[in-house]
Amino acid sequence: MEIVCLDLEGVLIPEVWIAFAEKTGIDDLRATTRDIPDYDVLMKQRLEILEKNNFLLNDIQDVISSLEPLPGAKVFLDWLRERFQVIILSDTFYEFSSPFMKKLDWPTLFCHKLLVDSSGKVLDYQLRQDNPKGSSVKALKALNYEVFAAGDSYNDISMLSEADTGILIHAPQNVINDFPQFNSVNSYEELKTNLINLSNRPLF
Ligand SMILES: [Mg+2]
Repeated sequence: MEIVCLDLEGVLIPEVWIAFAEKTGIDDLRATTRDIPDYDVLMKQRLEILEKNNFLLNDIQDVISSLEPLPGAKVFLDWLRERFQVIILSDTFYEFSSPFMKKLDWPTLFCHKLLVDSSGKVLDYQLRQDNPKGSSVKALKALNYEVFAAGDSYNDISMLSEADTGILIHAPQNVINDFPQFNSVNSYEELKTNLINLSNRPLF
């Protein structure tokens, strides 16, 4: 049995925080784990900025609703879901990703959640588990699946390493250089070709 695990941001949708910063003009929200490596420090800073700008969850979702998946993402994902079981493994939050998930026809998504009060104010966040991507792939392998995984950045390396085959897609050059053991592709068409070649199922 084969299953495909995909990263979300940078693979199927834009980087949500950066797109949100562009849409709202709040430049402070452009910081990523490359600027602030400690994820907790970074997230706390993001939540403070949201509070300072009086963004409630609904406002944030409205902005995110105006964003689109990457060109070709929906068609690719539809193709993939007809041929493989697919799980999206992401470090985003259900509350932020739901507008995109709707546009992608609600694929299965494992990610994290926000803690929101009754007024809609985002108070905090909760990670699903430590090493969420690597642990998920390990669990799927324990269920007797052969796992093919694709992602674009450092937070995908545990997923790609645990998978039977890991593939970089849309990855920046520094990631490609740091992890030459993974095949690297730059388009959904190339990823399709890779997956077709990996699969033992004559369904194509
Ligand atoms: Mg990504």
